[in-house]
Amino acid sequence: MDKVALVTGAARGIGLATVKLFMEEGWRVVGVDRDAEALRDAAGEAGFTPIVADVSQPDAVARFMQEAAEQMGRIDALINNAGVADFGPIEETDFARWRRVMETNLDGVFLTSQAAIPHLKATKGAIVNIASISGLRASTLRVAYGTSKAAVIQLTLQQAAELGEYGIRANVVAPGPVRTKLAMAVHSPEIIAAYHDALPLNRYGTEREIAEAICFLASDRASFITGQCLAADGGFEGTGIGLPALRG
Ligand code: NAD
Repeated sequence: MDKVALVTGAARGIGLATVKLFMEEGWRVVGVDRDAEALRDAAGEAGFTPIVADVSQPDAVARFMQEAAEQMGRIDALINNAGVADFGPIEETDFARWRRVMETNLDGVFLTSQAAIPHLKATKGAIVNIASISGLRASTLRVAYGTSKAAVIQLTLQQAAELGEYGIRANVVAPGPVRTKLAMAVHSPEIIAAYHDALPLNRYGTEREIAEAICFLASDRASFITGQCLAADGGFEGTGIGLPALRG
């Protein structure tokens, strides 16, 4: 197999776990991240091709996509995983804070996917976007983050609708909570306890469990699946009020 995956946000967390799983499955991988030092360390350890770039900057996206295609010769899967989290009340979310979240979580997915289209047309490839359970169900403090992730889910449907005729599939994974640097920066002990209560599986997921869903949707095993949102979330989306009470 000579398939190539491009993973954004590859320096750590869910992105790095996804890179490693792709490589175990025989893919070649190019990993993009704006954290140059962390990316180089991760690439040295895992053995993928690193490109330092910021997915929210149109010029940078055009450059890294061209560089990736030239270095790897083809792109079969694009994994839009780079993301930032910033939780705060609506009244304290000023426009700069709103834009900081949107420019990576939404603009980045739009720009990177658009730039990948010619390459994915050539391979009849796949896009897997990473949203969140915060894009499926609202909660407090997530006005920017949750809205950006809900938009990514709709953007995925738009991509599936328009790109299907080229043989390009587009799906989205909505992870539940995973103990990464991103999550730990915004999850207080109270939030962690509340998630445990709200999840039928009663625990956080692992990076690897999210990577499994991503790599499946990118692979030929999902060849007739497009326009779907797969919640890898310990059952969060499927349940509502009363779970902790019933458990007790
Ligand atoms: P993380 O912070 O551990 O890793 C994110 C990586 O993305 C970092 O290496 C960071 O440098 C990179 N990045 C951020 N903005 C970038 C930009 N503009 N350009 C290039 N690189 C950029 O986070 P994670 O928890 O692994 O999150 C990965 C994805 O999963 C994100 O989209 C996040 O929203 C989503 N997610 C995470 C959780 C969770 O609980 N960890 C839950 C749901 C969804």
